[in-house]
Amino acid sequence: MPVPPNIASAEQDVTVSRYWSAVVHDLTPYVPGEQPQCVDLIKLNTNENPYGPSPQVLAALREEITDTIRLYPDPDSSRFKAAIADFHKVATAQVFVGNGSDEVLGHVFQALLKHNAPVLFPDITYSFYPVYCRLYGIEFRQLSLTERFEINVDDYLQSNGGIVFPNPNAPTGRALPLTEIERLLQANVESVVVIDEAYVDFGGESAVALVHRYPQLLVVHTLSKSRALAGLRVGYAVGHEALIDALTRVKDSFNSYPLDRLAIVGACAAMADHAYFTESCRRIVATRTTLTAALAALDFTVLPSATNFVFARHSQIAGADLAAALRARGILVRHFKQPARIASFLRITIGTDAQCAALIEALREICTNVSAVS
Ligand code: PMP
Repeated sequence: MPVPPNIASAEQDVTVSRYWSAVVHDLTPYVPGEQPQCVDLIKLNTNENPYGPSPQVLAALREEITDTIRLYPDPDSSRFKAAIADFHKVATAQVFVGNGSDEVLGHVFQALLKHNAPVLFPDITYSFYPVYCRLYGIEFRQLSLTERFEINVDDYLQSNGGIVFPNPNAPTGRALPLTEIERLLQANVESVVVIDEAYVDFGGESAVALVHRYPQLLVVHTLSKSRALAGLRVGYAVGHEALIDALTRVKDSFNSYPLDRLAIVGACAAMADHAYFTESCRRIVATRTTLTAALAALDFTVLPSATNFVFARHSQIAGADLAAALRARGILVRHFKQPARIASFLRITIGTDAQCAALIEALREICTNVSAVS
C-alpha cells in the first residue's frame, strides 16, 4: 500500500504544489488592505464607511435570524433585484447581483471580456482587474493615466476585447464626466464597456441611465461603501438584458446562491432607507473637504476626489515611511508600492471627523519630527 504523505509537514514541502492545477502556478492573487483583529486602530485603509449601515438594516438582519436559515435563499435574489430596478429605473431583467462587486466583476471578466483582443484598463486603477485576467487567461493592455492622473478617453479608441475602469477611478479618486463616458460608448460599439461605480455616490456622475441607449454598457455597483455593508458582501450590475443573461449563465455554473438570506434582507433594507444613505454620503463628502484642506496645510498635494478617500502625497516624506509612522501611532492608511508613479502617495479613507482629526494630528507630529531632523 502506498505510504500517505505526512500531512503535518506537507505545508513546508514545496513539492506538494505538484498537485496544483497549471493555472494556479501563474496566479498573482489580489492582496486586500489589512483587516486587523484588534479594534482600537483607526482604520482608514480599505474605504469602509465609518458610520455603519442604516439602523433599519440592523433591525431587518436581527429579524431574519430565525430557523428559516436552514432553507436555501432565493437563488435569484428577486426581492433585492426589484429594489435595485426600482432605484435605478430599469427592469429587473437588467439587474445582476453577486457576493460583493468583486464577484460580479469576476463573472464579468469571464462572461463578457474574454475575447481575441486585449481588455483595456488604466495603468493605475483597481488592482483586481489584472488578477481576473490572469485567472481567466484574458489578454490585457494597461493604458497610462495622464500626468494629472486622469483617464484620457481617446487612448481607449483602439481595437479591444472590452474596456473596464472605475469611475471615479481608484486609487486616484478622480472622476470622468458622463459626457466622456458617452463619447467612449459612441465610439466603442463592438465590445463591452464596464464602468465600475464603486465610489460614484460620493460625487461622481452615474452612467446607469445610459444603459437604455447603449447595449454594450455594463455598470457595476457595490453596497460596501455608500451603504456601509462591506461585511455583508453585496454588489450588482446593471445593463442590457443580454449582458445580464451572460452573467447569469456564468453565475449558475458557479454558485446558485451568491447572496445568502441575511445579505438579501440587509441589502433590501439598505436600499429602502434613502434618507440615511444620502445623509451618510453628505457627511463623508463634508469631511473630505475639511481633510483635503488640512492635508494641503501640511504640505500634501491632494488629487481632487469624488470618492470616500483621498489620494495624497507629501512634498518630502516618502509614502511608505508615512504609512509606517502612522501605523506605529495606531492609524492604518493604504500605500501602494506599484506602479512606481504612485509610490509617494497614500490612499486615505474618509473616516469620521474625529478620526480624521486624529490622523491630521499624527501627521503634524510626523512631519514636524522630519523637518526637525532635516
Ligand atoms: N471596485 C473597486 C474600484 C473597488 O475599490 C472595490 C473595493 N475594493 C471593489 C470594486 C469591490 O468592492 P466589493 O467587493 O466590496 O463590492
